[in-house]
Amino acid sequence: VAASGKAEPLKVIISGAPASGKGTQCELITQKYGLVHIAAGDLLRAEVAAASENGKLAKEYMEKGELVPNEIVVMMVKERLLQPDSQQRGWLLDGYPRSSSQAAALEDYGIRPDVFILLDVSEDILVERVVGRRLDPLTGKIYHLKYSPPENDEIASRLTQRFDDTEEKACLIFLVKLRLRTHHQNVDAVLSVYKDITVK
Ligand code: ADP
Repeated sequence: VAASGKAEPLKVIISGAPASGKGTQCELITQKYGLVHIAAGDLLRAEVAAASENGKLAKEYMEKGELVPNEIVVMMVKERLLQPDSQQRGWLLDGYPRSSSQAAALEDYGIRPDVFILLDVSEDILVERVVGRRLDPLTGKIYHLKYSPPENDEIASRLTQRFDDTEEKACLIFLVKLRLRTHHQNVDAVLSVYKDITVK
């Protein structure tokens, strides 16, 4: 909020684990401050959809859940950050940087955020959120059995119960923890670069 008082447009980087509520916070922050929301994953999916050379290459990595090489990602993000709308309105960058070299690349281009927001959510809560998540196949809306329960019995009865036996649930928890570990490794690598402007 203090940073938003300055004359220049606000520049924000946000980092949060899967199910940390990053998507919701991104929506609230971009609305409140009128920022351009730039998500690295969205930029990559657009390249893939456009079947560009970079898109074709990126797809191979994305399908394996691996990081797309810097040669593709760095230029793509940098160019988006320097577009007129981002420059005029300010930006909220999400999903980037995921490594120290990606952070260093931004620094080299003189691109530095005003604030680095770190959504700090304990592993127990993240696991509970993912496990309790349900999808309404009719509307596409996501519910949570405890935190965002369905409005009525009709909706409740059609929510997809993907993980109802304990073995599937144990497997899901394992996968969530694996994803969280990767996420933490990525975040730890960039924390030192933004230490002085980090808000937890
Ligand atoms: P997720 O949270 O599941 O990783 P994203 O939409 O953020 O979803 O990213 C989807 C995929 O795009 C990632 O699995 C990865 O392959 C690629 N990707 C996203 N951001 C980056 C990045 N900063 N560097 C390299 N690859 C990325």
